[in-house]
Amino acid sequence: MGRPGIAALAGVLAELVLPRSCAGCGIPGSMLCPRCAAQLADPRTASPRRFPWGFPPTVAAGAYAGPVRPAVIAFKERGRAELARPLGAALALAVAVVVSAVPGPPRPVALVPVPSSREALRSRGRDHVRELTARALAELAAAGVPASEARLLVRRGRAQDSAGLSAAQRRANLAGTFQRSGGVPSGALLVLVDDVVTTGATLTEAAAALGADASCTGRPVLAAVVAATPRADPEHRRMQESRVAGVRSENLRRRSVHRLSGPGRSD
Ligand SMILES: [Zn+2]
Repeated sequence: MGRPGIAALAGVLAELVLPRSCAGCGIPGSMLCPRCAAQLADPRTASPRRFPWGFPPTVAAGAYAGPVRPAVIAFKERGRAELARPLGAALALAVAVVVSAVPGPPRPVALVPVPSSREALRSRGRDHVRELTARALAELAAAGVPASEARLLVRRGRAQDSAGLSAAQRRANLAGTFQRSGGVPSGALLVLVDDVVTTGATLTEAAAALGADASCTGRPVLAAVVAATPRADPEHRRMQESRVAGVRSENLRRRSVHRLSGPGRSD
């Protein structure tokens, strides 16, 4: 039996042996149940409470609240790598929505993953943002959105983990953290991608590092994330929702809901 055959069989066995439960709410059956998946197909613009100057226009596929939080943490910190599929589909949706807001004819999209710190990569043993990026690219390709990965940022490597820091402390901690590396694809829309946005400090620094370079000047730097800390103000929310509605994104939303909620699917 060739390698692909063995891989397929191993996949089938894993489906039989591994207990599956929803990473959002814990009910048995699928890695993400339809109710929880629907929360990741609810795009909105991310608006950190203290909007940092230079924060890029950012769309999140859902709110970083309720069942979305444990699902993201399960993927990021608890080794549930299989969640890359639904969370990557959610990221693809956010990308499609944010680029649909740019006027003019559709342009190719370059996804720029926000690099994790060296310590985070070491302790997790994997690069979860790049895993999400890879899945998002597959989803975008299937939806007919031309996109590629552009690893344009590197960490200078002195920032500490931002957990527990205030917004101002995060900005200070991150100042000068990112540096641009490598060539920018000509004519492409640059979309920073990350798992979640909370204070907006990381995306602001990353956008500054991209925009500071002469070859990027004049291009909009956009951002897309799986989930964003929600704003409490419902009026604000409704206003944002009406702004991000678009035909292309609606198609991808339907597609992603379909893909997200299939119980135990293995495609
Ligand atoms: Zn659930």
